[in-house]
Amino acid sequence: MIDVWALASGSSGNAYLVRAGGTTLLVECGTTLARAVGYLGQRGVAPETLDGVLLTHEHSDHIRSARQLSDRYGIPMFATEGTLGHRTLRDSPHARAVRPGKRLRIGDIEVLPFRVPHDAAEPVGFRLAADDGTVCITTDLGFVPETVIPRFRDSDLLVLEANHDEEMLHAGPYPRFLKQRVLGQHGHLSNDATAEALSACGDRVPPEVWLAHLSLVNNTPGRAQTHVAERLAAIGLGHVVVDVAKRHGPSLHWSSGPRMVQARLL
Ligand SMILES: [Zn+2]
Ligand SMILES: [Zn+2]
Repeated sequence: MIDVWALASGSSGNAYLVRAGGTTLLVECGTTLARAVGYLGQRGVAPETLDGVLLTHEHSDHIRSARQLSDRYGIPMFATEGTLGHRTLRDSPHARAVRPGKRLRIGDIEVLPFRVPHDAAEPVGFRLAADDGTVCITTDLGFVPETVIPRFRDSDLLVLEANHDEEMLHAGPYPRFLKQRVLGQHGHLSNDATAEALSACGDRVPPEVWLAHLSLVNNTPGRAQTHVAERLAAIGLGHVVVDVAKRHGPSLHWSSGPRMVQARLL
């Protein structure tokens, strides 16, 4: 069984918890250490029991307390060489370099990092597979290249950025240079681009999608969810469950375990 929790999502800090068999991984550590440890505690996870922290890229909303967590509790940090070159991660005894396109096994979880376009040194997304489930997590990408669509297909859960609504961004308060950065090929995904990428998965679209890394200024959870769900429904993919990860604190939980049993237990 593989379980995923959204602990924090957005420019004020990102963190996802993934657990399968006896292995527990944190994906991103972009909040303060106190918050990260608090969020883990809410899920019953002591930080020293983590088997690793996976980092997609070096922007502070993804790595803010990664080094502290790693140093204090002796947790391995898995990231590309480019990401590990950041001044706060460099020379860590717990750094473990990963290569885009090359699978690695961490306990009961097989991890596949894959390259994404973003204004960082060597950004990746992660596809995580356990015995009975596959989860793909990727935020912070300017567009979804054709090479990335196969990473989404047949995942059981996809955590994907839906950063901004293009109309809101155009009409909003961001200065021109920042609007252009967000909209650029190495910026962030719009609701529209996210819907487009999901459509491109066709009948191999993940049955459950969490929209993540929403802009506080240029998007709303309702707008993102409606936009993506309507686009999917229009092409016959209305069965896909679309949820939105909250910015602060543990929000969504997904499990590959039997749904009916879960529903009754809840
Ligand atoms: Zn980010
Ligand atoms: Zn970023």
